[in-house]
Amino acid sequence: MPGASHVGVSQRIESEEERNRLKKLVSPYCDELGGYIIRTAAEGATDKELAQDAAFLKRLWKKVLERRGKNATRSMLYGELDLAQRILRDFVGTELDLIKVDSKQCFDVVKEFTEEFVPELTDKLDYYNGDQPIFDMYDTENEIQRSLDRKVELKSGGYLIIDQTEAMTTIDINTGAFVGRRNLEETIFNTNVEATRAIARQLRLRNLGGIIIIDFIDMISEEHRERVIQSLEQALSKDRVKTNINGFTQLGLVEMTRKRTRESIEHILCGSCPTCMGRGTVKTVETVCYEILREITRVNRAYDADNFVVYASPTVADALRARSIMLWRSWRFLLVSKSKFRQSLYTLKSSLTW
Ligand SMILES: [Zn+2]
Repeated sequence: MPGASHVGVSQRIESEEERNRLKKLVSPYCDELGGYIIRTAAEGATDKELAQDAAFLKRLWKKVLERRGKNATRSMLYGELDLAQRILRDFVGTELDLIKVDSKQCFDVVKEFTEEFVPELTDKLDYYNGDQPIFDMYDTENEIQRSLDRKVELKSGGYLIIDQTEAMTTIDINTGAFVGRRNLEETIFNTNVEATRAIARQLRLRNLGGIIIIDFIDMISEEHRERVIQSLEQALSKDRVKTNINGFTQLGLVEMTRKRTRESIEHILCGSCPTCMGRGTVKTVETVCYEILREITRVNRAYDADNFVVYASPTVADALRARSIMLWRSWRFLLVSKSKFRQSLYTLKSSLTW
């Protein structure tokens, strides 16, 4: 808030403790340049992150003032940042080793931007001009594909199944091949611990938020259960987004939440499948056949028709033809396969004389 000298906190940060913590951390940054409003995104932010964000905003405001002084005529002092710049701004204060950019034009823009506003990132910028696509070079393409898969393999041979629904995300942990009974309890414990690290990584990678229910493999030992929770807490501590673990429920599931920030990677990259409406299942050929036959019964009562024309997929058409000869011998109807409309029309006309 240029010209102001106090700190305001968003109403949506509800915890009194967190409000006081943030206010105390940000107050020292108020000076003659202005004050600050702490928005909900700051919830759980570290001292370092807030300091770097404040420094960024100060440099930005100084730049605006400088431009205003320089330009006698009307000109733009500040515009909304483009995507690459926004990403750099949002990553202020995080641990990054290197930022590779494969477009010279974009590289020049972000270099100028970091020099002005985020100098600590300038040295980390690197222009990549190799022949191989940059996403292939660093296996990013495959990594994106893997981040959309339901199944995530663990090194030990076990795996996770991640399902994202409207209400919550569920994660199921499974052991791989069967191992002898003697080591079973130990194997289960180790797989669960390994899973905690994989889960923390997947939550960040897929940007999953809201309620998350984890179904660890059942553990008899109370000590093992506690250590799995500790391991999960430790793995989640690296997350920039706020998480909260509620522990085991009565059914032995681990309940946790992760703050929602932007969309999940699946919602960004994918849309709902028009065939199954996002359910991941379609009606079987048999179900569709019976629906068609019931519809014919219905229509037959309503209208006095000699022929029925059915538009169906090739597999449904084949099944229907095979079945209807037995079931509906007395009726005559024409089957037309959608994909081969013209050819089917002739062949079926001549073959369906029953
Ligand atoms: Zn589908």
